[in-house]
Amino acid sequence: MGSRIKNIIKYITIKTSKVTGVTNLFYKLNKDRKIILAYHNVIPDKYFNDYIHLDYSIRESQFRKHLDVIKRRFNVGVDLYNTKEITITFDDGYKNQYSIASKILDEYNMNGYFFYVADLLEEKDILSIDKIQYWLDHVCPGKYENKKYNLVLDIEDTTSRRNQWIKIQTLIDNKVSFDEICDILNDMYRFEDININKKFYDLRFTPIKKYELNDMKENGHKIGAHSSSHNILSNMKKDDLNKDIDKCKDLLNKGIYNTKTFCYPFGGVEDVSEEVMNTVKEKGFSNAMSFMNTKLNNREYGQFFMPRMTLPNTYDEDYIDFILSGTYYFLRNRRLLPKNE
Ligand SMILES: [Zn+2]
Repeated sequence: MGSRIKNIIKYITIKTSKVTGVTNLFYKLNKDRKIILAYHNVIPDKYFNDYIHLDYSIRESQFRKHLDVIKRRFNVGVDLYNTKEITITFDDGYKNQYSIASKILDEYNMNGYFFYVADLLEEKDILSIDKIQYWLDHVCPGKYENKKYNLVLDIEDTTSRRNQWIKIQTLIDNKVSFDEICDILNDMYRFEDININKKFYDLRFTPIKKYELNDMKENGHKIGAHSSSHNILSNMKKDDLNKDIDKCKDLLNKGIYNTKTFCYPFGGVEDVSEEVMNTVKEKGFSNAMSFMNTKLNNREYGQFFMPRMTLPNTYDEDYIDFILSGTYYFLRNRRLLPKNE
């Protein structure tokens, strides 16, 4: 089916669900279900574009629209077991989450969870996965080759950049590490020779500083662990996994993190093995967040695989309600939203 027709059907479904009261009905049916929302970067509208590295990010004005819809229906807070409250979370720890997202929450009198990658505190300036996407989105057009991996990257327009990202994902699926891919790309065209607007770069790709984390904590926000390396944890050797989570535990003991809630990088069933969940538990974390994922395979949601929902990048309040109420989830899965217990 063409995407235009799909969009028309989606639009009609959303509007029908609203006017017939189905959306409202699902708000009622799901009222004892805890909703936890997942966000990444909140970017000023003027910088927002169709970049691969913004696929999981949102425009500032749309984020505000989300909050306006949310606050009509729910309180917002950090108690993960209070079903009257929605909980809002952010992953990774880049500057915009401090200077934009946390400030907007302050303005709305809301608190959230910010899951911060341990290595961003001192060891890394940027996560390797973001570096890869930054390269693909902003490198000069051209044809780039790597013999060892038989890789040819043909960069022209936006579409071609997305197609090259699919090639890189094949390497990731074949367990080539993010660091290795960064090295390959850097050999093709050096990262330091790529230029973008400095203000945009700072917001999107530089980490929140320690004193800014303190400021956030003082304002009532929770700073939690999101691994040290931001690798796919299920791909890591036992030793490396232990070291990774130990570093997080260390930041928890030092009070850099002020919550024992952990958040897995990527967070799909494939990215979080039983071993990963057990390790996080053994190291003293009290629970851990994943994503609400249509392919659960044989996994059940639980304390170490808590479901998080994402909302669409839209200004359409009926569309936001359609997702938030669990109507869409019901249509896809024929069940109410998962319980958090
Ligand atoms: Zn992440």
